[in-house]
Amino acid sequence: MKLRTQITILFTLITATILLAFASVVYYSSKHSREREFFNLLKDEAITKANLFFEANVDTLTLQSIYRMNREVINEVEVAIYDRRFKLLYHDAVDIDIVQETEEMINQIMQNGELRFMQNDWQVIGITYTNNQETYAITAAAFDGYGYTKLHNLRQTLFVLSSLSIVVLYLLGLFLSKRAFAPIKEVISNAKSITATNLDLRLKSSEKKDELSELSNTFNEMLDRLENSFDAQKQFVYNISHELRTPLSAIIAELELSLGKEKNTQEYRTAIENTLNDARKLVKLSNSLLDLAKASYDPTEIKFKPLRVDELVLDARHQVLRLNPTYSIDIRFEQNFDDDQKLTISGNQYLLTVAFANLLENGCKFSEDSRCMVSIEVDKSDVTLKFIDNGVGISEEELENIFTPFYRGANKSISAGYGIGLPLTQKIVQLHKGSIRVKSAQGQGAEFCVIFECLPSTL
Ligand code: ADP
Repeated sequence: MKLRTQITILFTLITATILLAFASVVYYSSKHSREREFFNLLKDEAITKANLFFEANVDTLTLQSIYRMNREVINEVEVAIYDRRFKLLYHDAVDIDIVQETEEMINQIMQNGELRFMQNDWQVIGITYTNNQETYAITAAAFDGYGYTKLHNLRQTLFVLSSLSIVVLYLLGLFLSKRAFAPIKEVISNAKSITATNLDLRLKSSEKKDELSELSNTFNEMLDRLENSFDAQKQFVYNISHELRTPLSAIIAELELSLGKEKNTQEYRTAIENTLNDARKLVKLSNSLLDLAKASYDPTEIKFKPLRVDELVLDARHQVLRLNPTYSIDIRFEQNFDDDQKLTISGNQYLLTVAFANLLENGCKFSEDSRCMVSIEVDKSDVTLKFIDNGVGISEEELENIFTPFYRGANKSISAGYGIGLPLTQKIVQLHKGSIRVKSAQGQGAEFCVIFECLPSTL
């Protein structure tokens, strides 16, 4: 069921319930007050007739004929007067006798002073009356035809009014919900027209500060992010294809050349070595891409365990030096560490070694002396690693871009690479909830500072 219909039905149900509760309260309080007022009227009638009988000494026949005459026109009250011993002193019409008093009823009236009850739709009241120090019991009964008609009319009016109001409320609800949902429908049809091929389209957003314009703005912001991410992906794929094409073209050209005309053994060796070099570059690139993909995983899918940063740096150093024996890497501890726990962080061994190896390799390859130094420092809760070199450095404009995938600075001619190392390192550090900062200037070396939170000490 559409939200619009749901809201209309809910709105109608709530208002109808309130309306019906209100109508019921009106009806039952009217019913109650009619009953109370008519009992009071009966009481007054009983006293008036007793006064006529005892005080004004109006004779029984006159009183009875008045009763019979009035009975034709109005709902006259039928009165009976008894003494203490259940002796009937007066009765308006013994032949009609609606109440049919019993001795027990008269005793009850004498004891309680008053008795009220219903007999079919007739209301009956019994009261005591004192005259010349003698107490009498008087009963008075009548049918409140006028009151019942009024009550019946009220019930009908309330029923018709409530039914009409519910229909009107439902129609009103439909109309209002249609008006309220019109802008949402517009947003939906707008949103439907946005696809992967026209991600530049945006929803119309009004100047109003209401929820709908907030929704449109939020949706537009999401589209901005999606568009950026789509563009970045496209650029990424373009860069990968470009990077793969260069060594592959070189391999093909080398092999075609070798096949072209007969060569001596040395020439063949050189061709194979060149091809092997290009193939190695391809493997390095695909490994870096694989690592980048791993580092982009959801952190919950990567295994973390307590690791000592100094051991990770040593592993990374070993890896770099194995491939580049001419490089030189120093490790310096800024403090004496009595508590090993201070050097322990929660991390993924493989990814952290890749990140540190990238920073060490960059430090050496962009320095004339091929030297790089790592300083390890801890404070209360963090461990800070600084990868320092005295190489060519990075200019201010380039500093903004070095973490962008495939970006290579002006100094790229110094050494081969793909521009994946730093973005990969940054991803890995972020995955470990750490931070990475760089300080550098053209010709003045570079300092990459990486900070991780230590594991709390178990001591
Ligand atoms: P690659 O090293 O393959 O070029 P990186 O992503 O590791 O790619 O680095 C991106 C760029 O940042 C490099 O091309 C280089 O211009 C610059 N860079 C990184 N580290 C250093 C450093 N230690 N000294 C000077 N420049 C650096």
